[in-house]
Amino acid sequence: MSLKFVGILLVICLLLIVGLFTLIFIPQLQSVYVFSVVNAILVLVLLGLLLWIIQIILTIILLWYNINVPNIMIKLTKEALRITYPAIEFFGVVFSIDKKSIRRSYTNLNNQLVMSEEYGLSGEEILIISPHCLQKSSCPYKITNDIKNCKKCGNCKVNPLIDLHEKYGVNFRVASGGTIARRIIMELRPKAIIAVACERDLVNGLQDVKKIPIIAVTNKRLNGPCIDTEVNTLKVEHAILKLMKE
Ligand code: SF4
Repeated sequence: MSLKFVGILLVICLLLIVGLFTLIFIPQLQSVYVFSVVNAILVLVLLGLLLWIIQIILTIILLWYNINVPNIMIKLTKEALRITYPAIEFFGVVFSIDKKSIRRSYTNLNNQLVMSEEYGLSGEEILIISPHCLQKSSCPYKITNDIKNCKKCGNCKVNPLIDLHEKYGVNFRVASGGTIARRIIMELRPKAIIAVACERDLVNGLQDVKKIPIIAVTNKRLNGPCIDTEVNTLKVEHAILKLMKE
């Protein structure tokens, strides 16, 4: 878990505290510039935000030390992270923190939150979705429409993912973009998703898909972005087993 991520949350807390003190303890500001009702609403909103972010930090610390976190805190943290993530990324950029490391921390934290719950799903209720760039660029077979077109030659990671699809009965689809990925999700309506992608696409997916738990697995870009990427299929299998465990 990145300390930078918690650091950004603490900075947001500090700004909220400064905002609250300004609104509460500068009476001239209230009388001259702000109507008292508006002032009270602002205080309540800032206080709510502050408590919500403190709750996220507390959940992160509990997960860090492998301490059981109550379900309600997991749900609140997931929702809060989804809503506050753009602000977290904004503050990260302001403090010159690499976007990729913020995104990676976010996806890692998301995975810890998702994996801290029990699911007991069957294979058909799980969807593995991966980007097209996982397929060998020299491969002549079109697998985005149908993964059965793959000849399982072993030259790319599509092969072991098909093996996992056959072994556990999970759905596996290759998407050539975000719109296609959304269409696949609408069509299959899975109860959980294992998404393989780069940090940026994973964050977009986590922000887009609200109701379905997603375990995010970052692909490895050994040949540069979007070409002949790889994935650690052990991580994918670990995610399947976690989602299927009763
Ligand atoms: S495993 Fe072989 S046939 Fe299948 S997608 Fe990869 S390169 Fe193509």
